[in-house]
Amino acid sequence: MSGLSMKNISHAFSNRSVLNDVSIDVESGKVACLLGPSGCGKTTLLRIAAGLEPLQAGEVTVGDRLLAQAGKLDTPPEDRNIGLMFQDYALFPHLDVESNIAFGVDPGMSERRQWISGALDRMSLSGYATRYPHELSGGQQQRVALLRALAPDPSILLLDEPFSGLDVTLRAQVREQTLELLRETGRTALMVTHDPEEAMFMSDTLLVMNEGRLVQSGHPVDVYRHPVNTFVANLFGDTNALRGQCVEAGRVETPFGTFAAKGVTAGTTVDVIIRAEGFRALTDGDTASNTATVQVTTAYPIGRSSHLRLVLEKGHGAPLHARFPGVFIPAPGSELQIAVDPDQVFIFPTNA
Ligand code: ATP
Repeated sequence: MSGLSMKNISHAFSNRSVLNDVSIDVESGKVACLLGPSGCGKTTLLRIAAGLEPLQAGEVTVGDRLLAQAGKLDTPPEDRNIGLMFQDYALFPHLDVESNIAFGVDPGMSERRQWISGALDRMSLSGYATRYPHELSGGQQQRVALLRALAPDPSILLLDEPFSGLDVTLRAQVREQTLELLRETGRTALMVTHDPEEAMFMSDTLLVMNEGRLVQSGHPVDVYRHPVNTFVANLFGDTNALRGQCVEAGRVETPFGTFAAKGVTAGTTVDVIIRAEGFRALTDGDTASNTATVQVTTAYPIGRSSHLRLVLEKGHGAPLHARFPGVFIPAPGSELQIAVDPDQVFIFPTNA
């Protein structure tokens, strides 16, 4: 299997820059996810990899094959040996499931034909080979589209928001099946998503983009635990931003006591970002560091967790958003003693 390498990619539409010197590597046999807000350039980067968007700057390589180099080479999409899957699935309505999947496979490739029947089985589609797309559910169409992209045995697979049309339950199930199939076939894949949970679940490497730039890349757990800035910290769900002061080199004072802040010099004003899930309610007799007394404003159960709005006793700043596991609904107006998990606190110099 081959890996994908995109180097120094810049791109503009009508002189408006949408990608700025982006370089990414997807290791052979691994899944990488491009994660970022709408309009940050994820799909454009994917389309450049596929050859659907002409390359303006940089180069694209799959394995040891240079596919595109600005001004010199731009291999057409059909000659790139790349599998594509977009969010609308784009199945051929006049072909049944088996013919849709086999569409790009040379009839002489008997091994791939055999692969198709095995793959239909594995994706729980064996009884559906002669059905037409309109006779399938959304989840079944998604799986047919995935098999169609994989059937010609592409070097790499590019997926653009492949699960966005599915409801929450189906989405979890289908993405697990998809990941299993990618892993089983040792496929190199680059997937676009704006869902951080999906990106964490699917990827070996997370590539975070913002405003046309790559902001951070790495193993999803490392990116979650060590975001490089407020933007990345905020990507994974609700956070709280407090102002803090670096009282001595590497130590920051906040309403929850002091926290370590590596590399921050004394006197610097900092943003202290605390994840909503970074709080713990203390009960009588509990001891912990980094605690504060708060007053409950509102408390709502939202399924697996409860969402509380809290104000700090001394009226510091905006209300805090906190998420506690399970059903935890203290009465509005009641006081709580809460502790902050330092692993869920991220400190960045203000305006850095
Ligand atoms: P989303 O998550 O909403 O799909 P994205 O991160 O994939 O967004 P792109 O689709 O790559 O973002 O778009 C990046 C920017 O380029 C956007 O501002 C978009 O409006 C613009 N853009 C994309 N395609 C074209 C085009 N063909 N012509 C002009 N502008 C374009």
